Amino acid sequence: MFHTNLNRRRFPICSAAAAIFLLLMPFQEVIAAADQKPPRTIQTTTKQANAPRVDIFSQHAVDYIPAIATSYNKAVSLRWPGEPGLNIQVFNTASPIWREILRSTTGRTYETQDHDFVMAQYYPSASLNGITSPLCFIGFNGDRAADLDAYDTMYPSGYADLFLYLHEISHCIFFDISRREKTAWKLNPQKDELLADAFAIAYFLQAKMPAAVEDIMRQQGGLPDADPHKDVASREKFIAKWSAYLSRSAAPSNALELFQKTRTVLSDVELESTQ
Ligand SMILES: [Zn+2]
Repeated sequence: MFHTNLNRRRFPICSAAAAIFLLLMPFQEVIAAADQKPPRTIQTTTKQANAPRVDIFSQHAVDYIPAIATSYNKAVSLRWPGEPGLNIQVFNTASPIWREILRSTTGRTYETQDHDFVMAQYYPSASLNGITSPLCFIGFNGDRAADLDAYDTMYPSGYADLFLYLHEISHCIFFDISRREKTAWKLNPQKDELLADAFAIAYFLQAKMPAAVEDIMRQQGGLPDADPHKDVASREKFIAKWSAYLSRSAAPSNALELFQKTRTVLSDVELESTQ
């Protein structure tokens, strides 16, 4: 078990929807998944009295990500001895400092996009603070704290930020494993988003946090039907298959295994859907 300490927070319930995007950046060796764009019509409700929402999101990166990264990298070091692990960093794309760090680290200029609320970029090799390793840059737009508030209303379990981080980390792990295994892949937004959500669902179910899974499914249900990223049925099938898997097998012991098992179970779902 590798999940990290969680502070359960509760928020008022309101129905809301979010669109999910995946984007290939026009830059060699940069893979970007831009995600999680709640519609602008969402009415935000109660705000937290204390820290600004952006600060809470940043704090949650500190709370959640090191445990997941350590778990993943420990497994990577056993599976691919001698290879550097994945460096996962969260940055505020609204901050000039972070933009400069991104530019100096990767040579890439961050382009402001309308859909850049939360996204992940994977760099196969980048130097940060003297360490060269694959880099997962999770960016969030600090100017769009209202979108985080919207997520809070969609996630009464209080796990909105953890969901967002798990989802983005999953995109990075996919790119990272593909590179280490030298497997070819093709961007497929619907499949890629399904895998990222499935990874988060698998994590929450394994950690016995079903309320967070209910939130994910409620959010899915609120997506417009025309949204290519809406696929409630596949997620429901995955939940059933993953629950069955957990009931008969030992739960994955690290984040790499969690990702690989997620992919295996998901491919069973896809196989059934095509039959
Ligand atoms: Zn995504």
